[in-house]
Amino acid sequence: MHPMVKPALRRGWRDLNTVQFGMAPAHALTLGPVDTATGSFLDLLDGTRGLALLREEGRRMDLPEGHVDQLVERLARAGLLDDARGGGPDAAALREKPEVLDRLRPDLASLSVTTSAPGDAIGRLAARRGLRVQVRGAGRVGSVLAALLAGAGVGEVDVCDGGLVEPADVAPGGLPAEAVGERRAEAARRVVRRAAPDRPPRRNPRSPVGEDTPGFSLVVMAPRDDVSVYAPAPSAADPLIASGTPHLYAGVVEATGVVGPLVLPGETGCAGCLQQTRADRDETWPRLVAQWQSGKRRPTLACDVTLATTVAGLAAAHALAFLDGHLPSSAGARWEVSLPALQWHTRPVWPHSACPCGAATKSKGQKGKRKHTPEDTGRHETMAAPPHSKKSPRTTGVARPAGTWRAHV
Ligand SMILES: [Zn+2]
Repeated sequence: MHPMVKPALRRGWRDLNTVQFGMAPAHALTLGPVDTATGSFLDLLDGTRGLALLREEGRRMDLPEGHVDQLVERLARAGLLDDARGGGPDAAALREKPEVLDRLRPDLASLSVTTSAPGDAIGRLAARRGLRVQVRGAGRVGSVLAALLAGAGVGEVDVCDGGLVEPADVAPGGLPAEAVGERRAEAARRVVRRAAPDRPPRRNPRSPVGEDTPGFSLVVMAPRDDVSVYAPAPSAADPLIASGTPHLYAGVVEATGVVGPLVLPGETGCAGCLQQTRADRDETWPRLVAQWQSGKRRPTLACDVTLATTVAGLAAAHALAFLDGHLPSSAGARWEVSLPALQWHTRPVWPHSACPCGAATKSKGQKGKRKHTPEDTGRHETMAAPPHSKKSPRTTGVARPAGTWRAHV
């Protein structure tokens, strides 16, 4: 291990013997008491020295015997330490591609803030390269969203859509004006390739991937059609529910942006649950949806370009959080924002007992026993934190020795 105090967190002395790591309350911590010698020693934890050399430096600075190991262990337990050489073989392979890693350094630094154990950040970043995500819809939201996922290091981002690129599909960061008239899916895939820091990994020919859902860590539903955004048809997600594929909804309807729900099939509320709940609350809902769906196709749908980009960015962040192994707040909820006040608010999407997805049964029966992970590409599930847990791994997995460490608020 080559310990490194996470450089992404700014360091400051709150008083003569208390160090604060980080500025923003979400991830800041204080460490104390710290004597002057230990404080200077922190500068040596920059990832360039192994433990043996650090112990030697400690002796030279007259630090007590065992102090260096104790300090490193405490910093690691508090989630403040990274390992410049950790993360496993995939991380080692990524380090051998400095031109790729240089592109992703800010993302790596961000991951170091949200992960706990030394080496976790680069391990997560390297794991993104092995993931497959499908984005359905290549309009102003879908094309930008797909490019963002590729730019964040997701190895394979597939985009599906029909028809040809129209001038109204063009968006900064998404489909370029030159693509007007080309096939939407093809043009969007080219956008994805340009955004990616690396070439896509070669698919193993021995594990062919079917045309539909199996093999995707996540499918993002980003329809161009506003009715599909506001009242997503449960039937469109039937194969995803059946194969246990996690999926996330995102889009713009009129002047409202929608992100969520992130559906973990059989565990959190899905499009069917949403439909049932709405019909319970408002008996005219099915009648309205039928009229919206059969109504005359409008020549131009409202889709503010800044709202679409906002939705694409937030949805991509929710997708990444899930792909990195966290449970974002869109699981079982829809985030909505409307122009011009732009206040985000969340609406829960509860599992409904009449929905065949089975989330309602499970939430009553084995509440919180299982969780989907991005590695789950089929029916497999792993035992992990409850899906509705609000706590991040950082706060649940980090034990601090009493009296020495405290979370800074
Ligand atoms: Zn459901």
